[in-house]
Amino acid sequence: MKISSAEFVMSNSDVAKCPKDKLPEYAFIGRSNVGKSSLINMLTSRKSLAKTSGRPGKTQLINHFIINKNWFLVDLPGYGYARVSKSSKKVFQKFITAYFAKRTQLVSAFVLVDCRHEPQKIDLEFMQWLGENQIPFSIVFTKSDKLSKNKLPDQINSYIEEMLKYWVEMPNYFVTSSSSGLGKEDILNYINEINIQVKKS
Ligand code: GDP
Repeated sequence: MKISSAEFVMSNSDVAKCPKDKLPEYAFIGRSNVGKSSLINMLTSRKSLAKTSGRPGKTQLINHFIINKNWFLVDLPGYGYARVSKSSKKVFQKFITAYFAKRTQLVSAFVLVDCRHEPQKIDLEFMQWLGENQIPFSIVFTKSDKLSKNKLPDQINSYIEEMLKYWVEMPNYFVTSSSSGLGKEDILNYINEINIQVKKS
C-alpha cells in the first residue's frame, strides 16, 4: 500500500469523543520507549507524524490519524512507565480498556515489543487480556537493527517459545526496524488486505 496522505485528526482521553467515521481502525500500543512513534513515522513515511518521545509516559492520549482518507491509525499511550504513579496507571487502564471495549471501528491492534528483551510480564498480560476479549492483534518486534543477523532469529524464536506456553498458536507477528524500514511493506500490505475484506463485508 502506498501512503498518499497521513493527517492528524484529534487527541483525547475519552473513547466517546473519538471520530464518528466508520472507517477501519488499527491501534498501536506498547511499553513506553518501545519505538512506537518511530514505527508510525516509518510506516507513514512522515518524519514526525507521531512525536518521538522526549519524555516517556508523557503522551497519555488516544491519537487519531487518518491515512489515505480511508483508514485510521491510532497511536495509544505507552504503558508501563515506572515513573507514572499507581493512581494514574489506574486511570490509564480504565480509558484504554474502554477504548478496546467500545471502539467498534477497531479492526486489529499492533502490540509492540522490543526484540532485544525477554517477554515482559506487562506485555504478556496485555496480550492475554486482548485474547480474552477477542480483540485481534499482531505482535510487532521493534528495533531489529539493534541485534546481529545471527542473534535476531534466536531472540524471536525464544519469544515464540515463551508465547507458546500460554497460546495454542503464535499470534501473527512482524519483525521491524524503523531505521532500515524492515517490516514496513509487510505491515502496510497486511492492513491493506484487511481493509479490502472489511469493505467487502
Ligand atoms: P516510543 O516512546 O515508543 O514512541 O519510542 P520512540 O519511537 O520515541 O523511540 C524510543 C527510542 O528508540 C528513540 O531514541 C528512537 O530513536 C529509538 N528507536 C526507535 N525505533 C528504533 C529502531 O527501529 N532502531 C533503532 N536503532 N532505534 C530505534
